[in-house]
Amino acid sequence: MMDLTKGYQNFLLKRPNGNFTGRFGLAVFVVLALLTACQDRQRGTAITNVTVIDAVNGVREHQTVVFDGDEIITVRSADEKISVSKSIDATGKYLIPGLWDFHVHLTYDDRFDETMPALFLSYGITSVRDTGGLMRNVLPVVEAMRAENAIAPRVFFAGPLLDGRFVVYDGNDRPEIGVQNATPQQARETIANLKGQGVDFIKVYEMVSPDVFLAMVETANELALPIDSHVPLSMRASIAGPSVDSIEHLRNIELDCASDSAELHEARLERLKNPERLSGFELRSSLHSLQRLPAVENYDEERCDRTIGALASTMMVPTLRLNSFNLAPPFRKGDWQDALARIPTEVRQDWAVSAEQLAANPSEEFNRFAEWSLFLVKRMHAAGVPIGAGTDTPIFLAVPGFSLHSELEFLVQAGLSPLDALKAATVRPAEYFSLQHKMGTIDVGRVADLVLLDANPLEDIANTRSISAVVTKGRFMTANDLKALLEATGATTL
Ligand SMILES: [Zn+2]
Repeated sequence: MMDLTKGYQNFLLKRPNGNFTGRFGLAVFVVLALLTACQDRQRGTAITNVTVIDAVNGVREHQTVVFDGDEIITVRSADEKISVSKSIDATGKYLIPGLWDFHVHLTYDDRFDETMPALFLSYGITSVRDTGGLMRNVLPVVEAMRAENAIAPRVFFAGPLLDGRFVVYDGNDRPEIGVQNATPQQARETIANLKGQGVDFIKVYEMVSPDVFLAMVETANELALPIDSHVPLSMRASIAGPSVDSIEHLRNIELDCASDSAELHEARLERLKNPERLSGFELRSSLHSLQRLPAVENYDEERCDRTIGALASTMMVPTLRLNSFNLAPPFRKGDWQDALARIPTEVRQDWAVSAEQLAANPSEEFNRFAEWSLFLVKRMHAAGVPIGAGTDTPIFLAVPGFSLHSELEFLVQAGLSPLDALKAATVRPAEYFSLQHKMGTIDVGRVADLVLLDANPLEDIANTRSISAVVTKGRFMTANDLKALLEATGATTL
């Protein structure tokens, strides 16, 4: 706007013999100049006197942050005078970039269809990465979330889990979110087709064979699609890991860290021939229960250092709130009842029962894996492996949004600093999609996704729960606005 006006002024001034020179021209110039000044003064919403925290710039105290539409246009000292159309005094508060949940399933449980976007926003999650759903289910949800004026997080999606000859999530007794890729040719066609339908990345699942995996990697690279993956059961983490951009749940990495990894892997390949003709789900579960804990028990530090070295540029999304669930189950948290109150009634009743059962029968086996997951994340972080914050919500009692804050706490428990935990939910996800110049920090030119907190998250990461307001795509929402949004979905009993 300002540039256009300037151009017009130059045009007026430069015309040598035009009728606009003289008094009339001068009058137009003055009016335009005043208009420009007015527009400058009134642009945007300012959050003033706030402490700004992000994982690149660190801590900046006593700031004013102005956003206009979906863009941050000013970050400067609060002492400098600024005129804007709206100003919010945030004295004593903390401003962080909008958070990501980097591992969600928007269509895993259709009882959440209406409420998920509002739930995420109510907990300060302004972007999500959907890591698996059939296109016919996930596309309409993505389209609705991306519609103009939709009040919803930004969404990046993979489409279905790309599984192998056997499919784990095949729709029998569990949601259908996986598709079969029995041959390399089938894998190439599937991925080209997904690209045509607009996916942002692909998700490689556990039952793929090495030749199908290779075809998937080649095709995704040709089509410039980032690759998310579980380490396929037929492959070693140190072989598959460097070819993909992210790995979820630390899945199947324990085998590559075991002193007897070669023997375990051989036994695994034998079993994957599936002589008992198990379903994909049964086959996978049988391998996990046969081999996971033995591999953890045979942990070999030197071997694991080599594995971690091979994963140096592959983002780990450990979903500790899932892997290490037993160490801090959600139902032990003070705000669990509040979280339950926000979700649809039918789900709330189911989950309350499940929570009681889990509390009554904690699994010892699960504890061992929980400790190992924390330990491995600590080692990986120390070795410089990038860490992303994701939850797998709504699977296994993960309230959308609420569970991301649990994940941040787990990451700190594993040894990340609170600022590094924030990095895992802001800068790292942005980098994954090569969007670090648009998202992830509070800088001029970044999108207007922000979370205003009542308490300092660097003093205690749990303070990311003290949400005072959320800015999503340039829309400022107070705690009351967020509550009203939730109520409008019909789910909440807040
Ligand atoms: Zn998942």
